[in-house]
Amino acid sequence: MNHVNPFASAMKQLDRAVEHLPKEDQPFVEVLRVPQRQVQARLPVRMDDGSVRVFEGYRVQYDNHRGPFKGGIRFHPQTDIDEVKALSFWMAIKCAVVGVPYGGGKGGITVDPKTLSTLELERLSRAWVKAMEPVIGVDKDIPAPDVNTNGQIMAWMVDEYAQLNGQYIPGVFTGKPVSLNGSAGREPATGQGGFYALQEVAERKGWKPADVRIAIQGFGNVGTFFAYLAHDAGFRIVAVSDSRGAIYHKDGFDPRQVMDHKQKTGSVKGFANTTEMDSEAVLSVDCDVLVPAALENALTKDTAPSVKASVVIELANGPTTPEGDAIFEKKGVLVVPDVLANAGGVSVSYFEWVQNRQGYYWSEQEVLAKLEPLMKEAFRAVWKEHEKRSIPMRTAAFVLAVHRIVNAIKLRGV
Ligand code: NAD
Repeated sequence: MNHVNPFASAMKQLDRAVEHLPKEDQPFVEVLRVPQRQVQARLPVRMDDGSVRVFEGYRVQYDNHRGPFKGGIRFHPQTDIDEVKALSFWMAIKCAVVGVPYGGGKGGITVDPKTLSTLELERLSRAWVKAMEPVIGVDKDIPAPDVNTNGQIMAWMVDEYAQLNGQYIPGVFTGKPVSLNGSAGREPATGQGGFYALQEVAERKGWKPADVRIAIQGFGNVGTFFAYLAHDAGFRIVAVSDSRGAIYHKDGFDPRQVMDHKQKTGSVKGFANTTEMDSEAVLSVDCDVLVPAALENALTKDTAPSVKASVVIELANGPTTPEGDAIFEKKGVLVVPDVLANAGGVSVSYFEWVQNRQGYYWSEQEVLAKLEPLMKEAFRAVWKEHEKRSIPMRTAAFVLAVHRIVNAIKLRGV
């Protein structure tokens, strides 16, 4: 399979939206074709055996016209500057789609964290903060977790930032553990937001949960919480995959039991009474809703033709390439785009930042009571644009978001 540059895909998505923007907005779109700033740093880390390894770290600050840069940090062996640029651009669009007052940023380190000890991982996380300290800040740029990073890593990072600044400023990172000024409801938030998108789709299609078969690619933070919520509401989870393999049962299974199995064995593979398949086979199983919740470029010109689902809910960032989108359009597959479907995470990150700044904390019920209307209103606004203009939901979301960003640029003045 050819490598698809995610930043090139992101720019093609932007191109599609431009023709639907008001004429007076169009010249300003040029501002969104390059990031405002990109920082690349060498991160030297002392390994447990006394040797030194040097890692490559990134922070891309794409746009901050609507508020401080905001976005996660990814630790992955394939992470590079083009991936981080694309992810930071999508963050700017996403924050504008759901109306949270942030711009877009993203960070990363090229590393396979599974090859590091816990202490090495801690030293690497702290090294990233040392390198990026001058450019991040509670009103400047607020990182968060992404693939292979979690609350513990945010805890080390917020501590390193406190040591460098001589004061503890919890709001500079979100996705912290609840016992370290994190927000109730942050961990499941992305899956929760995706579940609200599923409910909105089911309502429009007139679907009853028990008739809806769902396949999920990626059984990490986002995929599991989405699976639990969908299962609890009566939807049928018929297939899930992780990087080692996939399982399928036509009647569905309980995702919590699959997680118990994964915790014992390291993979979803081998879960009782299911058919085992290659990882990629999850994309083409017989189902109604396909949920990519792993990495970019899952649904391409090679894989999209065999998708049987009539709806794709993108919980991963950038899972569908522009060629994949074109195939789905031809086949009449409804794609609920990443910049809408997975925005629950950044929305609760925003709530965490608000709580940190006011020093007053909300219950999980209060957080959910704020998240649900925010996600559902964003869904309805995108849907309205999609229907009014007969354009894919992705293009509709981009039209709304770019218009909001351009409006901020105009108001601030050039
Ligand atoms: P994670 O590291 O917790 O989980 C990723 C999962 O994907 C793992 O189970 C891994 O085994 C699996 N995976 C990797 N390659 C795969 C493949 N080829 N086939 C099947 N499974 C594969 O990461 P996460 O936080 O759940 O993030 C998943 C996606 O959601 C990413 O694209 C991320 O950017 C996006 N996202 C995450 C958040 C968040 O709050 N964590 C918010 C918005 C978007």
